Amino acid sequence: MERKLASVQRVLALHPIENADAIELAQINGWQCVVKKGEFTPGALGVFFEIDAIPPDLPQLAFLWTSRNADGPQPRPESFRIKTMRLRGALSQGLLMPLSQFALPANPSEGDDLTAALGVGKWEPAIPSGMGDCRGPFPPLVRKTDEMRVQSVPGVLDELRGLPYVITLKCDGTSATYCIDPRTDEFHACGRNQSITEGANHYWNIAKKYEIEAALRTAPHLAVQGEICGPGIQKNRLGLKSLEFFAFTVYNQQQGKYLSHDEARAFLESANLPMVPVVEEGESFDHTQESLLALAEGKYAGTSNEREGIVIRPRVERNSLLLAGRLSFKAISNRFLLKEGE
Ligand code: ATP
Ligand code: MN
Repeated sequence: MERKLASVQRVLALHPIENADAIELAQINGWQCVVKKGEFTPGALGVFFEIDAIPPDLPQLAFLWTSRNADGPQPRPESFRIKTMRLRGALSQGLLMPLSQFALPANPSEGDDLTAALGVGKWEPAIPSGMGDCRGPFPPLVRKTDEMRVQSVPGVLDELRGLPYVITLKCDGTSATYCIDPRTDEFHACGRNQSITEGANHYWNIAKKYEIEAALRTAPHLAVQGEICGPGIQKNRLGLKSLEFFAFTVYNQQQGKYLSHDEARAFLESANLPMVPVVEEGESFDHTQESLLALAEGKYAGTSNEREGIVIRPRVERNSLLLAGRLSFKAISNRFLLKEGE
């Protein structure tokens, strides 16, 4: 499922903010965001912009980036995005606007994706160096790595409820995929979206350090996906001395399916490939969004850096109707988001 950076959403509830009389909190799926008091009623629809959205440069949105003492609405600064913030002490994640503020397609209904219609962009962290050159497209038999946020699809909690589960640490680095393309028998080292040319870049350095090609030659139908972390990647929040690999997925290209956690662990151990650390596992998933967000918070071991969050999956792979794909999602630490947005 693609992220909807702007969409039609329903106000599930409104909550007062202590000592604030002009603003209140609106609940949108699992998110809460500050709105002008009285602007919405429970059950009303609005246009919801998620965090990381770069909204269009429209006069009705200029209040977001125009300072109080400016003469009039200012153009949107290049770096503007919707961020996690605290307003009067209340956590606010996203922006909710009345439908009437936008020229929308006829009969807007709950869940409609407006990202393209409104020309909403997505903020991405700066691309580090050492990412290599493009060799070609992503191997067609393997799926790209991605995780939805629990707040955007809170129903995934019910899909997982009662099942054996594994929660792993979200390692803050860059995504890598390694596989042998069965059509050509060639080994590929890939980034998030493309295969990378062999050379002195992070993807190939990791491939060589862990001898990943040799490991995959023993099981050429498998693809290994993981995070490369270390100096020069993001802010090296794990505090590593050199580049390291943390595998989080093993995929069977022949059968078109993911290995279970235990099958993946067995293969990775035999191949001497480290796995992302397990934060919690159990026989019957019973977390709420709140308890997951609490579990997401903490420091990367041995550092004073806020960890990015956690990734939650069933122990045995399962399809999610809500996600239209594998049941797997993330809870990002709000402490991490508040710091990152500074
Ligand atoms: P968003 O879609 O929320 O805007 P994004 O697409 O950049 O953000 P990320 O925040 O990078 O997604 O989160 C998903 C990525 O997290 C995965 O693609 C993977 O590279 C990485 N990741 C790190 N640790 C893990 C883990 N333990 N399990 C699964 N994925 C992980
Ligand atoms: Mn994504």
